[in-house]
Amino acid sequence: MTKILADTFGYSTFRVGQEIVIEQALAKKDTLVLMPTGGGKSLCYQIPALAQDGLVLVVSPLISLMQDQVEQCRAVGINAGLVNSALTPEQIQAVFGQMHRHELDILFVAPERLLQLNFMERLQELNIGLIAVDEAHCVSHWGHDFRQDYRMLGKVREHLPYVPIMALTATADLATREDITHQLSLDNAFVHLASFDRPNIQYTVASKYKPLDQIVEFIKQRDGSGIIYCNSRKKVDEIATKLNQRGYRCGAYHAGLTTDERAQAQRDFQVDNLELMVATVAFGMGINKSNVRFVIHHDLPRSIEAYYQETGRAGRDGLPAEALLLFAERDAARIQEWIETGEGARTEVELEKFAAMQKFAEAQTCRRQVLLNYFAQYSDTQCGNCDVCLDPPQHFSALEIAQKVLSCVYRMRQQGTANQVVEVLKGRKPAKIIEFGFDKISTFGIGKNKPDEYWFNIINQLVHQGFLRIDITRYGALSLTEAAKDVLRGTFELQLAVPRLTVVSTRKATSAAKNYDKALFAKLKHLRKQLADQQDIPPFVVFSDASLM
Ligand code: ADP
Ligand code: MG
Repeated sequence: MTKILADTFGYSTFRVGQEIVIEQALAKKDTLVLMPTGGGKSLCYQIPALAQDGLVLVVSPLISLMQDQVEQCRAVGINAGLVNSALTPEQIQAVFGQMHRHELDILFVAPERLLQLNFMERLQELNIGLIAVDEAHCVSHWGHDFRQDYRMLGKVREHLPYVPIMALTATADLATREDITHQLSLDNAFVHLASFDRPNIQYTVASKYKPLDQIVEFIKQRDGSGIIYCNSRKKVDEIATKLNQRGYRCGAYHAGLTTDERAQAQRDFQVDNLELMVATVAFGMGINKSNVRFVIHHDLPRSIEAYYQETGRAGRDGLPAEALLLFAERDAARIQEWIETGEGARTEVELEKFAAMQKFAEAQTCRRQVLLNYFAQYSDTQCGNCDVCLDPPQHFSALEIAQKVLSCVYRMRQQGTANQVVEVLKGRKPAKIIEFGFDKISTFGIGKNKPDEYWFNIINQLVHQGFLRIDITRYGALSLTEAAKDVLRGTFELQLAVPRLTVVSTRKATSAAKNYDKALFAKLKHLRKQLADQQDIPPFVVFSDASLM
C-alpha cells in the first residue's frame, strides 16, 4: 500500500486514518469514514481499486463531481469510468463493455443507475471489491443535501450481500451518523472519526440590527473573497443588488436561477471575477475555491451541521479566515415556528438541531468548544480564536440599564418590536414611531449615549435571561415577564455581560484582530511547514468501534 501511495500518488505518508480504513476495506469490513472536506477521503477507495482485483464502485451525487473524480483518477493512471444520465446509451454500452472485460479499476455511478435492476444483475456477474458511498450524508433526511435515490441505497446490501460498503462524509453529527449507519446497515462497521476542528477559522457572532450596514462595514475592513449566506432567495437578490449598488463585484446564487446562470456565477466567483457571492444553501457541494477569506451568515442556519459546512468553505488553504454570524432573537423565534408548523415526522429532530444552533449563537463560552462538542469531539480548552476567547465577556451591574429598556417596553404598551424600542431609546422618529405616539412617552431618548448595537445586545440578553419575551404572532413585539417587574421595582440584583461591539465600531477590535491575524499567520505558516514535512493533518482521533461514537 505504501508503494501504491508513493508510485501512483506521489505521497510519502498516509494521513492519519487512511491506512487503517483501507486495510479494513481490503479485509472486507464495512467502514464509515468521517473526515472534514479536504481530509483525503478519495484515497480511501482509490487505493483499494488498485490493490485488489475486484472493481470498486463509487456512488456519487453530482454529475460534475463525478467527472472531476474520473479525471483525477485517470491523471494518476487509475482506469476509471462513469455511468450517469448525461451519457448516451452507446457511451453506457461502451463502459459496460470495459467493465465486463475487466478493464476498469473504478466505476463512478449515480445512485439511481446503481439501483436499476438490469445494472444490478450485471454487477452480480462481476467481482465487485468495494462499494464506496461518497457524500454519504445524502442518505439522511436530517442532512441538508438529502437525495431520494440515496435513501434507497440500503437495497444494494440485499443484492450484493458480500461486498463491503465504505460510507464517506464530511457531515457528521450524531443524528446523521446514526442515519447513515441505519440506512446502509453498517452496524458492525469500522468507524474513523477525524478531527473536525478548523483552527484557522475565526468564529464571531454579532447581534444583527442593520445587517446590510454591518456586512458592508465588515467587508470594507477585509481583503479577499467571501460568501454571504441568506435563508431566502428574495433576501439573496436584495442583498446582492444592494452590494452591487455600493460598488462591490457581487454575484447571486440560488435555486430560482437557471442552471446556466448558476454555473456562470460559480465560475466567475471561482476565477475572482466576483469578489462576493450572496447565496442560499444551494451554493454548496462542489465549490472548489481554496482562498475564500470569509463566510457571513445573514440569517441563522437551521443546524450546526449546516453552519459548519457553510463556514467550512472559508480558509481551505489553511490561511486565516473568518466566519461571521449575524444573530437576532427574532429570527430564531421565526425559524422555530417554521419548523414546528412544518410537515413531516422529523420536526422533533430538526427542532433539536435548531436548538443547538441557537445555543451556539447565544453562547458566552468559546465558540469552537460548542462546535466541537456538538460533533462529540470533546474539547475543554479555549481556542483563542473566536470572539468570546479574544474578547471575553465582562459582567456589570445592569439594573439601571435594564430598567431603561424594560420601562420603554412598558410605556410602549408592550406593542413595540426590538427595532422600535431601540428607536425610542435613541430618540429617533421614523414614521411608525410617530404613528404609534411612541415619541411622546417619557422615556423617549433616554439611551442616546449608547450605540444601537449596544441596545440590541442588552435586549437579547434580557430575552435570554427571561425578562423579555418576543411574540412572533404579534410581529415580534416585546412583552415583559413576571421577573421583569422585579427589575422595574429595583428589587433584583441584575448582572449582564458588557456588550461586545464586534462589527461596527471600534478601532480597538480591528487592531486586536489584526495583531491576532499576524500571530496566527505566523503560527499557521509554521504549522503548514510541519504539515508539508509530515504530509499530515493533526490532530486526528481514530475510533475503531462504532459504540464509542
Ligand atoms: P475529501 O474528499 O476528503 O474532501 P480529497 O480526497 O479530495 O478530500 O483530498 C484532498 C486533497 O488531499 C487532495 O488534493 C489529495 O490529493 C490530498 N491528499 C489525500 N491524501 C493525501 C496524503 N496521504 N498525503 C498528501 N496529500 C493527500
Ligand atoms: Mg470528496
